[in-house]
Amino acid sequence: MDVETPSFNGDELFGLFDLSLLAKAGMHEWLAESLNRCTHFFRASGGSVFLVDEDGHIRLKVKSGAQCRIPDAAEVEIGVGVAGTVLLDGAPRIIGDPTAEPFLVGKGVVKRSEVDSSMVVPLLGPSGESVGVLNLSRAKGEGPFDEHDLSNAAKLGAHVALAVTNAQLVNLLQSALDDRAMKLEQLQAVLDSVAGSVYVVDGAGRYADDTVPEGAVGTAAACVLEGVRITGEPQEGRAYAADTDSTWLLNAVPLSFGGAVLTVQDITQYQRAQNDAARLKRLAEIGQMAAAIAHEIRNPLTGIRGAAQLIAADESFAGEYSKVIEDEAVKLEALCSDFLEISRPLRLELGSARLGDVVKRVCGLWRPEFEHANVCLTLESAADDPTMTIDVRRVEQVVHNLVKNALQACKPGGRVGVKVAEGSLSIQDDGVGMDEETQNRLFSPFFSTKPSGTGLGLCNIRRIVDAHGGGVDVWSEPGKGTRFEVSFGKNVA
Ligand code: ADP
Ligand code: MG
Repeated sequence: MDVETPSFNGDELFGLFDLSLLAKAGMHEWLAESLNRCTHFFRASGGSVFLVDEDGHIRLKVKSGAQCRIPDAAEVEIGVGVAGTVLLDGAPRIIGDPTAEPFLVGKGVVKRSEVDSSMVVPLLGPSGESVGVLNLSRAKGEGPFDEHDLSNAAKLGAHVALAVTNAQLVNLLQSALDDRAMKLEQLQAVLDSVAGSVYVVDGAGRYADDTVPEGAVGTAAACVLEGVRITGEPQEGRAYAADTDSTWLLNAVPLSFGGAVLTVQDITQYQRAQNDAARLKRLAEIGQMAAAIAHEIRNPLTGIRGAAQLIAADESFAGEYSKVIEDEAVKLEALCSDFLEISRPLRLELGSARLGDVVKRVCGLWRPEFEHANVCLTLESAADDPTMTIDVRRVEQVVHNLVKNALQACKPGGRVGVKVAEGSLSIQDDGVGMDEETQNRLFSPFFSTKPSGTGLGLCNIRRIVDAHGGGVDVWSEPGKGTRFEVSFGKNVA
C-alpha cells in the first residue's frame, strides 16, 4: 500500500496561519477549521484541541469525530493522563491501547472501542511553554499512527502552537479594538452632550484639533493650561470677552500621558443672572437700612419739632426746651457716626494676644451685670490657647456684643457659657432663642427686636470677624437658646 508522505508545504497546513476566518467567524470557528486541517493532514477521523486559558487551566476548545464524546467541560492537568504527561515532558506520543501504557497504569484510563490509535501532540510556545494539546485519533480500519507520523507531529506541534498564539493575540487585539471603538463612541456621545467646547491638548501645548480658542478665551486657556502643566492639578479660569460682552468658564484636567482636556463654557447668562441677584440683594439691604435709619431719625426729630413748637408758642420755654433740642441733636449725631462707621472699610491694628485672655477680661467686666440680673456666667478656656495676631480692641468689641446679647436674651436664673478653644470662641445661652426670620436678618445693620436696640452689634461683629479672615456660625431655637461660634481665621502668631 502506498503511504502518502505528509508534507508541510500542504495547503491545509499553511491555512493554519490564515487568520481571516478568525476575524470573520471568531476564535471557535478558526480552531475548528484548524483542527480539521490537522486531522485531514494526518488522515485521522477524530481530533480535539485543549488550550491554556488566562487563568492557567487547560480546557477543551474544539472536538471532532470520535473525540466528540469528550465532555465539553473537560480539562487537562499537567502530569495527569495522556495529555497531561505529554505536556509535562513535551514529547508527542502514539497510544494504541492506553491500558497497556506503563505510565497510565492505575490512572483509571480505559480503551475506547471507537478509537484504535491516537496521537497526542503537545503545543509548545517558542520558549517551551505549554500552549495546549492536540489529540488526533484513527478508528479501526484506518490503520494506526506510525513513527513517521509521530516525527511529523513533533514538528507540526510548534507550528500549530505558533498559529494558536497568533490567533489568540489577534483575538485579543480585536477585542481591545472593539473595546476602544465602543469607548470612543461613548466619549463622542458625552462630548456631544456637553454644553460648550472641548479641546484636547498634548504635552507640548498643541491642540489636537484644528480649532483653537481665540481672543480673551485663548489667553485664559493658555493660562489654565500652563497652570495644569506646572501643578499637574486640574485648573479653573474665567474669561471676559469685551467685544461680545460674554463670560466664559474654562476647566482644564491633566491627562496621565501628558497634556490636558480643556472645556470652555459660555456662562454669560448665568453670570448676568448672578450679577442681577447680587444687585437686587444689595438694593433690598439698602431699602431695609433706609427704613431702619428713617425710623431711628424720626424719634429725635419728633422731639426737636415738639420742643421747637413749644418755644414758638411761649418763649419762656426756650431755656428748658433748647436743652431737649440739643440732646436730640446729639442722638442724631451719634446715629450718623454709627452709620458712617459701618459704611467705612475696617482697618485693623494688629497685635499679639491670647484669645482666652481677651475673653476673660471682657467677661470680668460683665460679671456684676450678670449677678445683678441673676444669670450665671461660666468661662472655659483650653490650656493650650495659642497666641494670635488680632486687633485686640476689635475682638474685645466682638466678645462684648455677644455677651451682652446673650445676657439680654436670658431670664433670671438663666445660664450663659463661654468657651475658648484653638483660636475660636463659642457663646451659648439658654435664653429666648430666635425664629428663622430673625436668624436670616441677624447681621443686617439696624435690625433689632429690642425696644431700645441699635441693631448694630452683630453687623459690627461680622465686619470685625471678616476683617480677621474668620467666620461666624449661629445655632438657635425659639424657647431653647442660642449659640454663636466665632473663629478668627488662621491668625496663629
Ligand atoms: P441689638 O442687640 O441692638 O438688637 P444686635 O445686632 O446685637 O442688635 O442683635 C440683633 C438682633 O439679633 C437682636 O435684636 C435679637 O433679636 C437677635 N439676637 C442677637 N443675639 C441673640 C441671642 N443671644 N438670643 C436671642 N436673640 C439674639
Ligand atoms: Mg446687641
